[in-house]
Amino acid sequence: MRTKYKKLSFLLIIVTSVGFFLSSSKNPLQNLEKNISECAECKNIFPEADTFSLKQNFDSVYEAYKKDSKTNKKIFLGFIFFTADFSSHIRGYGGPINIAVGLNPNKEITKIYILRHHETSSYLTKISFFLKQFEKKKITDSFILGKDIDAITQATITSQAITQSIKYSLEKIFGAQDPRSFITKNIIYHELIILIIIFILACSGFLFLNPFLKWLSLCVSLIYLGILKAHMFSIIQISNIGLLKFPSLDNGVLWFGLLALIFLTLISLGNIYCGSVCPFAAIQEIIRKISQKLNIPSIKLAKNVDQKARNIKYGILLGGLFLSFIVQNSDIINFEIFILLFTARASFLGWLFVAFIFFISFFNYRFWCKYLCPIGAFNGLLSRLSLFKIRANKKSCTACGICQNICPTQAIDKDFTINPSECILCGECLKNCPQQCLTLSIKKNEKS
Ligand code: SF4
Ligand code: SF4
Ligand code: SF4
Repeated sequence: MRTKYKKLSFLLIIVTSVGFFLSSSKNPLQNLEKNISECAECKNIFPEADTFSLKQNFDSVYEAYKKDSKTNKKIFLGFIFFTADFSSHIRGYGGPINIAVGLNPNKEITKIYILRHHETSSYLTKISFFLKQFEKKKITDSFILGKDIDAITQATITSQAITQSIKYSLEKIFGAQDPRSFITKNIIYHELIILIIIFILACSGFLFLNPFLKWLSLCVSLIYLGILKAHMFSIIQISNIGLLKFPSLDNGVLWFGLLALIFLTLISLGNIYCGSVCPFAAIQEIIRKISQKLNIPSIKLAKNVDQKARNIKYGILLGGLFLSFIVQNSDIINFEIFILLFTARASFLGWLFVAFIFFISFFNYRFWCKYLCPIGAFNGLLSRLSLFKIRANKKSCTACGICQNICPTQAIDKDFTINPSECILCGECLKNCPQQCLTLSIKKNEKS
């Protein structure tokens, strides 16, 4: 027995030594070469450099040199490093962002480039302007969004992740203080508070059947989530969750907060998000008001066509997720109208599509939501699990059909059961049933 353990220990030592030998014999500059080969622009960080060596005590911070042709001496040009080697725990909307950073000998940033990211491209169109702000920054600068760095409009999570990755890495390499100390200072609690207020308004608007509260939540959401933040629940977010790419908690308060509140309301009340929170829903409601004021005729699809067409959104949801998982990239499904609209970064075709959906919405209420929106599909599926549901009491129902006629999303079937997947909790049926036999309840009544 003893001999067996001796042999095993000997084998383990040999294997470990070989592993150690192999890893230590690997050229540490290979990482630099690999990264530079992935990013053509990175060559601009030190275009005149002819040799690189490792900074003392680091295996992934490089010093760039060039040879003086007259004296034949090496001239020190500066440092280059990649943030993924130091701050991979800091994540943007779609995971860590690897940034190449060059500094001159005085430790001022000279150039930065993004090597790898999984952010949604619509949010990154102004990235070069944003990155330019880091040039000439000293390692002692504060690197705080809104103070010495302006965020990319409507891309706070990405801006925050880039800024923090650079600052954290600089602190790790050159700084004396614990780099984690500044990260925690940047948690944005007010985002969570505004989100909670929006959801409280939305839920109260439905529960108290109060249109003012519902409009208030829609307007606050349109301004805050739509216009200011361009942050909405999207198929890209679902795909990123499946691909295990999400922001870190400290800079993804909005990301996690919105997700948690949507989930909570879906499994308790139902699809309050689509009814009273989604910024695009606010636009749809405004369009509805305008078309009612202008007496624009409402064009409804034939019942059987309508029912079949509603399945398209489920196909888009499943097909989109499948595609993004196959290519391991959520940006491939960046087609949702609200992202195109609120980031204001669509192609010509994208704008044509937005214009078409706007136009058709004047004639067919929530056309995008009912037939095409993958989030409408996702929320519809989850809201089937909700604890409370609107149910009709068979005994008191006179089958007058008022609820069916008044329901804006045609979520009430011919036997007066309510389809939770299509119900957006507008409360119209509850308010207008003459027998008051529709209630929000946990238990199934006779007819539900
Ligand atoms: S269906 Fe889509 S666009 Fe419509 S309200 Fe819901 S999430 Fe917003
Ligand atoms: S409005 Fe009320 S009474 Fe009339 S059909 Fe609907 S549930 Fe029945
Ligand atoms: S009217 Fe339709 S959408 Fe509104 S709460 Fe009733 S069933 Fe839901």
